[in-house]
Amino acid sequence: MTADRYAVLGNPVAHSRSPVIHAAFARQTGEAVAYGRLLCPLDGFEASVREFAAAGGRGCNVTLPFKFEALRLAARCSERARLAGAANTLRFDADGWFADNTDGIGLVRDIEHNAGVPLAGRRVLLVGAGGAGAGVLGPLLAARPAELVLANRSADKAQALVARHAAWAQAHGVRLSAAGLATAGTGFEVLVNASASSLQGQASPVGAEVLAAGALAVDLMYGAAAAPFLAWAGAAGASARDGLGMLVEQAAESFFIWRGVRPHTAPVLQELRAGLAAAA
Ligand code: NDP
Repeated sequence: MTADRYAVLGNPVAHSRSPVIHAAFARQTGEAVAYGRLLCPLDGFEASVREFAAAGGRGCNVTLPFKFEALRLAARCSERARLAGAANTLRFDADGWFADNTDGIGLVRDIEHNAGVPLAGRRVLLVGAGGAGAGVLGPLLAARPAELVLANRSADKAQALVARHAAWAQAHGVRLSAAGLATAGTGFEVLVNASASSLQGQASPVGAEVLAAGALAVDLMYGAAAAPFLAWAGAAGASARDGLGMLVEQAAESFFIWRGVRPHTAPVLQELRAGLAAAA
């Protein structure tokens, strides 16, 4: 049987663990999937993705910096991709490409299923209003926390994102507001760091007063870059979690969109974690 072709497109893309994750999903489910990496020139995303589809590709994941452009190339998109203004998944349907954004649902599944923390009724602080923050805000609201505060270094960006999600928040019964990093408030049961602070070697973009006793603190980064945040959260008495679970869960959702089959994520997450620990 010839395998159906998928790939992750980005620039850079060599670091992406998506091929390893999707190979594990294919082995586990018996789906005939071949998944590779495609480095696109910074001014050549559209040409690269069209070439891949014309050569028989069935769909792709899209990573930095092309997630915004990916959404514009699709004929149809999910509500969560529309709200995010960006897509990380394309499916090349014959009657027009379909775009989705699986980052947010990946995060929500990791928090609720893998970490065992239901979001309904909780107070959530989301830090970061860049591409990652925009991608996870809609699905976090759909999980119906009591309140969600979006804090960002540039408060105007947080305000714009909050304005775009106001009706969605209201439809899900969530109090949604914007804040600066120093004015986020205190006593949150869940903190999600979707800012790039860990990439810059900083422990946390906010002070420990934001955390309620026994809070869950999640950084979207993983590997060595997440270590200072995890240490900071642990020292503040929080339960600390990196972004590896979200990475595997968003991949599983993409796999489901393409194949209609939902892989088991736990063994794949365990394998990746063991690989990272061995490399450290
Ligand atoms: P962007 O460049 O789009 O946005 C960066 C955001 O971080 C902005 O909100 C910016 O604030 C803020 N920021 C940057 N530096 C600091 C700092 N020192 N202190 C506080 N805030 C800061 O990046 P992305 O949103 O795409 O990515 C953010 C992080 O999420 C990255 O670390 C990325 O690796 C990770 N990620 C993980 C995923 C996973 O599957 N685990 C998926 C997607 C992303 P301002 O607006 O003021 O500039």
